[in-house]
Amino acid sequence: TDNVLELKNVSKVFGGGLLRRNITVAVDDVSLGIPRENPGIIAVAGESGSGKTTLARLMLGIIPPTEGAIYFNGHDIASLGRSDKREFRREVQPIMQDPFEVYNPFYKVDHVMMAPVTNFGLARSKSEARDLVVESLETVGLRHQETLGRFPHQLSGGQRQRIMVARALLLKPRVIVADEPVSMVDASLRATILGSIDLLNKELGIAVIYITHDLTTAFQISDNIIVMYQGSVVETGRVEDVIQAPQHPYTQLLVESIPRPDPSERWGSDMASQETGGASTEVGCRFAPRCPYAMAECTEEMPPLYRIGDTQAALCYLHRDSSLGNVQSISDVF
Ligand code: SF4
Repeated sequence: TDNVLELKNVSKVFGGGLLRRNITVAVDDVSLGIPRENPGIIAVAGESGSGKTTLARLMLGIIPPTEGAIYFNGHDIASLGRSDKREFRREVQPIMQDPFEVYNPFYKVDHVMMAPVTNFGLARSKSEARDLVVESLETVGLRHQETLGRFPHQLSGGQRQRIMVARALLLKPRVIVADEPVSMVDASLRATILGSIDLLNKELGIAVIYITHDLTTAFQISDNIIVMYQGSVVETGRVEDVIQAPQHPYTQLLVESIPRPDPSERWGSDMASQETGGASTEVGCRFAPRCPYAMAECTEEMPPLYRIGDTQAALCYLHRDSSLGNVQSISDVF
Protein backbone atom coordinates (compact mmCIF):
# COMPACT_ATOMS: atom_id res chain seq x y z
CA THR A 1 0.00 0.00 0.00
CA ASP A 2 1.25 3.51 -0.63
CA ASN A 3 -0.84 5.02 2.14
CA VAL A 4 0.77 5.30 5.53
CA LEU A 5 -2.65 5.86 7.08
CA GLU A 6 -6.00 5.07 5.56
CA LEU A 7 -9.54 5.48 6.80
CA LYS A 8 -12.19 3.34 5.18
CA ASN A 9 -15.83 4.31 5.77
CA VAL A 10 -15.06 5.37 9.31
CA SER A 11 -17.95 6.40 11.53
CA LYS A 12 -18.04 7.19 15.21
CA VAL A 13 -21.26 7.21 17.15
CA PHE A 14 -21.50 8.26 20.79
CA GLY A 15 -24.29 7.47 23.19
CA GLY A 16 -27.13 5.13 22.49
CA GLY A 17 -27.60 2.44 25.04
CA LEU A 18 -30.62 0.22 25.15
CA LEU A 19 -33.14 2.92 24.36
CA ARG A 20 -31.03 4.26 21.51
CA ARG A 21 -31.59 7.78 22.80
CA ASN A 22 -29.19 10.69 22.54
CA ILE A 23 -27.18 9.13 19.78
CA THR A 24 -24.62 11.46 18.32
CA VAL A 25 -23.00 10.72 15.01
CA ALA A 26 -19.69 12.49 15.62
CA VAL A 27 -18.03 11.29 12.43
CA ASP A 28 -20.07 9.97 9.54
CA ASP A 29 -18.56 7.68 6.93
CA VAL A 30 -15.16 9.20 6.26
CA SER A 31 -12.75 7.59 3.79
CA LEU A 32 -9.33 9.16 3.39
CA GLY A 33 -5.84 8.04 2.46
CA ILE A 34 -2.63 9.72 3.59
CA PRO A 35 0.14 8.92 1.14
CA ARG A 36 3.59 7.84 2.22
CA GLU A 37 5.29 9.87 -0.50
CA ASN A 38 4.88 13.63 -0.75
CA PRO A 39 2.12 13.99 1.75
CA GLY A 40 0.78 17.48 2.03
CA ILE A 41 -0.78 19.37 4.88
CA ILE A 42 -4.46 18.54 5.22
CA ALA A 43 -6.58 20.98 7.18
CA VAL A 44 -9.67 19.65 8.89
CA ALA A 45 -11.84 22.68 9.49
CA GLY A 46 -15.05 23.00 11.43
CA GLU A 47 -16.81 24.51 14.38
CA SER A 48 -16.85 22.85 17.76
CA GLY A 49 -19.14 19.86 17.45
CA SER A 50 -18.28 19.35 13.78
CA GLY A 51 -16.47 16.12 14.52
CA LYS A 52 -12.98 17.36 13.67
CA THR A 53 -11.47 16.49 17.04
CA THR A 54 -13.17 13.09 17.03
CA LEU A 55 -11.63 12.49 13.61
CA ALA A 56 -8.21 13.42 15.02
CA ARG A 57 -8.63 11.03 17.94
CA LEU A 58 -9.68 8.24 15.59
CA MET A 59 -6.58 8.78 13.45
CA LEU A 60 -4.37 8.67 16.51
CA GLY A 61 -5.94 5.40 17.62
CA ILE A 62 -7.14 7.00 20.88
CA ILE A 63 -10.72 5.88 20.22
CA PRO A 64 -11.90 3.05 17.97
CA PRO A 65 -14.36 3.63 15.13
CA THR A 66 -17.93 2.40 15.55
CA GLU A 67 -17.96 1.37 11.91
CA GLY A 68 -15.29 1.08 9.24
CA ALA A 69 -11.58 0.63 9.83
CA ILE A 70 -8.32 2.54 10.03
CA TYR A 71 -5.25 1.05 8.40
CA PHE A 72 -1.62 1.78 9.23
CA ASN A 73 0.72 0.60 6.49
CA GLY A 74 -2.12 -1.56 5.23
CA HIS A 75 -2.93 -3.19 8.58
CA ASP A 76 -6.09 -2.56 10.58
CA ILE A 77 -4.96 -0.71 13.71
CA ALA A 78 -7.60 -2.56 15.73
CA SER A 79 -5.64 -5.76 15.35
CA LEU A 80 -2.01 -4.71 15.24
CA GLY A 81 0.55 -6.94 16.92
CA ARG A 82 2.77 -5.57 19.66
CA SER A 83 5.61 -4.33 17.52
CA ASP A 84 3.36 -2.92 14.78
CA LYS A 85 1.37 -1.10 17.43
CA ARG A 86 4.57 0.40 18.76
CA GLU A 87 5.52 1.53 15.29
CA PHE A 88 2.07 3.06 14.86
CA ARG A 89 2.47 4.92 18.17
CA ARG A 90 5.83 6.22 17.04
CA GLU A 91 4.96 7.13 13.47
CA VAL A 92 1.60 8.79 14.10
CA GLN A 93 2.14 11.58 16.59
CA PRO A 94 -0.18 14.13 18.18
CA ILE A 95 0.48 17.77 18.82
CA MET A 96 -2.05 18.87 21.38
CA GLN A 97 -3.99 22.06 21.80
CA ASP A 98 -2.74 23.16 25.17
CA PRO A 99 0.72 21.81 25.82
CA PHE A 100 0.62 23.02 29.42
CA GLU A 101 -1.96 20.39 30.20
CA VAL A 102 0.29 17.75 28.77
CA TYR A 103 3.23 18.65 30.93
CA ASN A 104 3.63 17.57 34.49
CA PRO A 105 4.51 20.83 36.29
CA PHE A 106 7.06 19.02 38.46
CA TYR A 107 9.10 17.70 35.57
CA LYS A 108 11.66 19.74 33.76
CA VAL A 109 11.67 20.03 29.99
CA ASP A 110 14.54 17.53 29.98
CA HIS A 111 12.18 14.86 31.27
CA VAL A 112 9.48 15.75 28.75
CA MET A 113 11.97 15.40 25.91
CA MET A 114 13.84 12.38 27.24
CA ALA A 115 10.78 10.24 27.90
CA PRO A 116 10.14 9.32 24.25
CA VAL A 117 13.87 8.73 23.67
CA THR A 118 13.92 6.23 26.53
CA ASN A 119 10.50 4.68 25.82
CA PHE A 120 11.28 4.00 22.21
CA GLY A 121 14.96 3.20 22.73
CA LEU A 122 16.08 5.87 20.30
CA ALA A 123 19.58 6.32 21.68
CA ARG A 124 22.35 4.03 22.87
CA SER A 125 23.85 6.39 25.40
CA LYS A 126 22.96 9.41 27.49
CA SER A 127 25.04 11.73 25.37
CA GLU A 128 23.50 10.41 22.17
CA ALA A 129 20.07 10.99 23.69
CA ARG A 130 20.98 14.53 24.61
CA ASP A 131 22.28 15.19 21.09
CA LEU A 132 18.98 14.01 19.67
CA VAL A 133 17.05 16.27 22.01
CA VAL A 134 19.20 19.31 21.24
CA GLU A 135 18.93 18.71 17.51
CA SER A 136 15.18 18.37 17.72
CA LEU A 137 14.86 21.59 19.73
CA GLU A 138 16.99 23.42 17.20
CA THR A 139 14.85 22.19 14.33
CA VAL A 140 11.91 24.12 15.77
CA GLY A 141 14.03 27.17 16.55
CA LEU A 142 14.53 26.62 20.28
CA ARG A 143 17.88 27.01 22.02
CA HIS A 144 18.61 24.19 24.43
CA GLN A 145 20.30 26.68 26.74
CA GLU A 146 16.95 28.40 27.17
CA THR A 147 14.78 25.34 27.52
CA LEU A 148 16.61 22.39 29.06
CA GLY A 149 16.85 22.60 32.84
CA ARG A 150 13.64 24.61 33.05
CA PHE A 151 10.19 23.80 34.30
CA PRO A 152 7.18 24.22 31.99
CA HIS A 153 5.92 27.28 33.90
CA GLN A 154 9.23 29.03 33.27
CA LEU A 155 8.61 28.94 29.53
CA SER A 156 6.29 30.98 27.37
CA GLY A 157 3.22 29.40 25.77
CA GLY A 158 4.94 29.55 22.41
CA GLN A 159 8.04 27.79 23.72
CA ARG A 160 5.92 25.08 25.29
CA GLN A 161 4.03 24.59 22.08
CA ARG A 162 7.26 24.33 20.10
CA ILE A 163 8.62 21.81 22.59
CA MET A 164 5.59 19.68 21.76
CA VAL A 165 6.56 19.89 18.11
CA ALA A 166 10.19 19.08 18.92
CA ARG A 167 9.09 16.14 21.07
CA ALA A 168 6.96 14.74 18.27
CA LEU A 169 9.88 15.20 15.90
CA LEU A 170 12.21 13.09 18.01
CA LEU A 171 10.24 10.04 17.01
CA LYS A 172 10.65 10.72 13.30
CA PRO A 173 6.92 10.36 12.68
CA ARG A 174 5.31 9.92 9.27
CA VAL A 175 2.08 11.59 10.31
CA ILE A 176 1.45 14.43 12.76
CA VAL A 177 -2.06 15.18 13.90
CA ALA A 178 -2.07 18.72 15.24
CA ASP A 179 -5.28 19.60 17.08
CA GLU A 180 -5.72 23.40 17.17
CA PRO A 181 -2.01 23.91 17.76
CA VAL A 182 -2.21 27.70 17.61
CA SER A 183 -5.54 28.43 19.23
CA MET A 184 -3.98 29.12 22.64
CA VAL A 185 -1.14 31.38 21.53
CA ASP A 186 -1.12 35.01 20.52
CA ALA A 187 -0.83 36.22 16.96
CA SER A 188 2.91 36.85 17.05
CA LEU A 189 3.65 33.25 17.98
CA ARG A 190 1.09 31.81 15.64
CA ALA A 191 3.26 32.48 12.62
CA THR A 192 6.30 30.86 14.23
CA ILE A 193 4.45 27.72 15.18
CA LEU A 194 2.71 27.44 11.84
CA GLY A 195 6.14 27.95 10.30
CA SER A 196 7.57 24.99 12.18
CA ILE A 197 4.61 22.84 11.19
CA ASP A 198 5.14 23.82 7.58
CA LEU A 199 8.78 22.92 7.88
CA LEU A 200 7.94 19.45 9.20
CA ASN A 201 5.99 18.85 6.05
CA LYS A 202 8.13 20.56 3.43
CA GLU A 203 11.60 19.69 4.74
CA LEU A 204 11.01 16.42 6.52
CA GLY A 205 8.16 15.03 4.40
CA ILE A 206 5.87 14.41 7.35
CA ALA A 207 2.14 14.33 6.63
CA VAL A 208 0.34 16.90 8.74
CA ILE A 209 -3.32 16.84 9.67
CA TYR A 210 -4.05 20.34 10.84
CA ILE A 211 -7.26 20.48 12.87
CA THR A 212 -8.62 24.00 13.14
CA HIS A 213 -11.66 26.22 13.49
CA ASP A 214 -9.84 28.95 11.62
CA LEU A 215 -10.10 29.06 7.85
CA THR A 216 -7.45 31.77 7.55
CA THR A 217 -4.61 29.68 8.99
CA ALA A 218 -5.93 26.64 7.12
CA PHE A 219 -5.60 28.60 3.90
CA GLN A 220 -2.12 29.77 4.85
CA ILE A 221 -0.49 26.44 5.54
CA SER A 222 -2.50 23.61 4.09
CA ASP A 223 -2.55 22.06 0.64
CA ASN A 224 -5.90 20.37 0.98
CA ILE A 225 -8.86 20.95 3.20
CA ILE A 226 -11.70 18.94 4.67
CA VAL A 227 -14.66 21.02 5.88
CA MET A 228 -16.80 19.25 8.46
CA TYR A 229 -20.30 20.01 9.65
CA GLN A 230 -22.02 17.92 12.32
CA GLY A 231 -19.94 14.85 11.62
CA SER A 232 -20.12 14.98 7.83
CA VAL A 233 -17.41 16.02 5.41
CA VAL A 234 -19.42 18.63 3.50
CA GLU A 235 -16.67 19.85 1.22
CA THR A 236 -13.13 18.88 0.41
CA GLY A 237 -10.38 19.53 -2.11
CA ARG A 238 -7.41 21.77 -2.86
CA VAL A 239 -7.46 24.57 -0.35
CA GLU A 240 -7.32 27.33 -3.00
CA ASP A 241 -10.35 25.92 -4.78
CA VAL A 242 -12.41 25.37 -1.66
CA ILE A 243 -11.70 28.77 -0.11
CA GLN A 244 -11.77 30.79 -3.32
CA ALA A 245 -14.77 29.06 -4.86
CA PRO A 246 -16.65 27.22 -2.10
CA GLN A 247 -19.35 24.93 -3.47
CA HIS A 248 -21.23 23.83 -0.39
CA PRO A 249 -23.67 26.37 1.10
CA TYR A 250 -22.09 25.86 4.53
CA THR A 251 -18.55 26.52 3.27
CA GLN A 252 -19.88 29.57 1.46
CA LEU A 253 -21.27 30.85 4.73
CA LEU A 254 -17.95 30.29 6.44
CA VAL A 255 -15.90 31.95 3.76
CA GLU A 256 -18.23 34.95 3.68
CA SER A 257 -17.70 35.48 7.36
CA ILE A 258 -13.88 35.53 7.16
CA PRO A 259 -13.25 39.25 6.54
CA ARG A 260 -14.72 40.34 9.84
CA PRO A 261 -12.18 42.38 11.78
CA ASP A 262 -12.48 40.40 14.99
CA PRO A 263 -11.04 36.94 14.34
CA SER A 264 -13.04 35.45 17.21
CA GLU A 265 -16.19 36.30 15.26
CA ARG A 266 -15.17 34.35 12.21
CA TRP A 267 -17.39 31.49 13.11
CA GLY A 268 -20.19 33.77 14.20
CA SER A 269 -21.75 33.23 17.58
CA ASP A 270 -25.14 32.56 15.99
CA MET A 271 -23.58 29.55 14.29
CA ALA A 272 -21.97 28.35 17.47
CA SER A 273 -25.21 28.63 19.40
CA GLN A 274 -26.89 26.31 16.93
CA GLU A 275 -24.26 23.67 17.45
CA THR A 276 -25.65 20.55 18.97
CA GLY A 277 -22.36 18.75 19.31
CA GLY A 278 -22.76 16.45 16.34
CA ALA A 279 -25.72 15.32 14.36
CA SER A 280 -28.65 13.34 15.57
CA THR A 281 -29.55 10.29 13.56
CA GLU A 282 -32.08 12.15 11.48
CA VAL A 283 -31.94 11.43 7.79
CA GLY A 284 -30.93 13.85 5.09
CA CYS A 285 -28.47 16.67 4.80
CA ARG A 286 -27.36 17.90 8.22
CA PHE A 287 -27.25 21.46 6.97
CA ALA A 288 -30.82 21.48 5.66
CA PRO A 289 -32.34 23.34 8.65
CA ARG A 290 -30.03 26.28 7.97
CA CYS A 291 -29.65 26.03 4.22
CA PRO A 292 -31.17 28.77 2.04
CA TYR A 293 -31.32 26.34 -0.92
CA ALA A 294 -32.88 23.36 0.84
CA MET A 295 -35.18 21.26 -1.34
CA ALA A 296 -37.57 18.48 -0.40
CA GLU A 297 -35.07 15.71 -1.15
CA CYS A 298 -32.46 17.33 1.11
CA THR A 299 -34.34 16.15 4.17
CA GLU A 300 -35.03 12.70 2.79
CA GLU A 301 -31.58 11.30 2.13
CA MET A 302 -28.00 12.34 2.72
CA PRO A 303 -26.44 13.47 -0.57
CA PRO A 304 -23.23 11.80 -1.75
CA LEU A 305 -19.93 13.66 -2.16
CA TYR A 306 -20.22 14.96 -5.70
CA ARG A 307 -17.01 15.55 -7.58
CA ILE A 308 -16.69 19.08 -8.92
CA GLY A 309 -13.68 19.27 -11.21
CA ASP A 310 -10.50 17.36 -10.43
CA THR A 311 -9.73 18.85 -7.07
CA GLN A 312 -12.98 19.54 -5.27
CA ALA A 313 -16.08 17.75 -4.01
CA ALA A 314 -19.20 18.80 -2.12
CA LEU A 315 -21.87 16.88 -0.21
CA CYS A 316 -24.80 18.76 -1.71
CA TYR A 317 -27.63 18.06 -4.15
CA LEU A 318 -27.03 21.39 -5.88
CA HIS A 319 -24.14 19.68 -7.67
CA ARG A 320 -25.90 16.51 -8.74
CA ASP A 321 -26.49 17.51 -12.34
CA SER A 322 -23.10 19.04 -13.02
CA SER A 323 -21.14 16.47 -11.01
CA LEU A 324 -18.41 14.33 -12.55
CA GLY A 325 -19.44 11.41 -10.36
CA ASN A 326 -19.35 10.48 -6.69
CA VAL A 327 -16.17 10.57 -4.66
CA GLN A 328 -15.55 7.48 -2.53
CA SER A 329 -12.39 8.56 -0.74
CA ILE A 330 -11.80 12.20 0.13
CA SER A 331 -8.18 12.04 -0.97
CA ASP A 332 -9.28 11.22 -4.52
CA VAL A 333 -9.68 14.95 -5.07
CA PHE A 334 -6.37 15.99 -3.46
FE1 SF4 B 1 -28.59 22.75 1.19
FE2 SF4 B 1 -29.75 20.59 0.17
FE3 SF4 B 1 -27.21 21.15 -0.38
FE4 SF4 B 1 -27.92 20.32 2.05
S1 SF4 B 1 -28.05 19.14 0.15
S2 SF4 B 1 -26.53 21.97 1.56
S3 SF4 B 1 -29.89 21.32 2.30
S4 SF4 B 1 -29.00 22.33 -0.96
